[in-house]
Amino acid sequence: MVAEKKVELKTLPVKQTAIRLRSAGREVKMIVPVCPEGQLRDDQGNPTSVDCKKEMNGARGWQDLCESRGHNPYFRHIVKYRIEDNWVTHEDGSEEAVGKKRIKTKDEWVPNVRGFAWSPNVSSGQSIQKAITRRGARRLEEMGYREVCMLTNCMQPAEFFSVRYGAYCKESHARVAAASVSGVLFPLVNLEGIDAAFAIGEVESNQLKSVKNFKGIDLVPGRWVDGKVVP
Ligand SMILES: [Zn+2]
Ligand SMILES: [Zn+2]
Repeated sequence: MVAEKKVELKTLPVKQTAIRLRSAGREVKMIVPVCPEGQLRDDQGNPTSVDCKKEMNGARGWQDLCESRGHNPYFRHIVKYRIEDNWVTHEDGSEEAVGKKRIKTKDEWVPNVRGFAWSPNVSSGQSIQKAITRRGARRLEEMGYREVCMLTNCMQPAEFFSVRYGAYCKESHARVAAASVSGVLFPLVNLEGIDAAFAIGEVESNQLKSVKNFKGIDLVPGRWVDGKVVP
């Protein structure tokens, strides 16, 4: 038996921001190209380098040119410095601060993650495919990262999979997204079983209407295989 070659997927290095459950829907996070050279500015704020997308007038496939130039368009370069006094020691042993020095505290390439709404009502459900073909967006796994939760703004790794509704960090988030996709309103507090949905982000008001069958949404649990959920 030949051992299956598995690529170790990385966890997305992005911060978790607040999730607004009332307006949360379903979205697929992907990595989008932005020419990093085009983001560079001089002290006056003027661009110092050519932007591959502008150069090609945004024509489809501009990111290929950008990549061929080694610009790394799917990531942005984050460099941070700390300014410190520059201490020098004189011959007599005394110390003196002479000017300042910059110490690099961060030097990373971070993926440009965007969420693309995945709703039957958005672009007839073709929004994900359009983002891939027109904008050059790439799926997380293709870029070596674990899939993340498909609830709007949730950046936690996906661990609960629904054949009908996609990949989520937990069942409660799958239910919130499923309810949104199905056009179901649901109570945001005191709902047995989805308390965990409020662990992250703000607690919303309970003005929304209760729906009896919220827990009745059939998620059809499945497994994540090669970028999709299978039974
Ligand atoms: Zn470029
Ligand atoms: Zn989640």
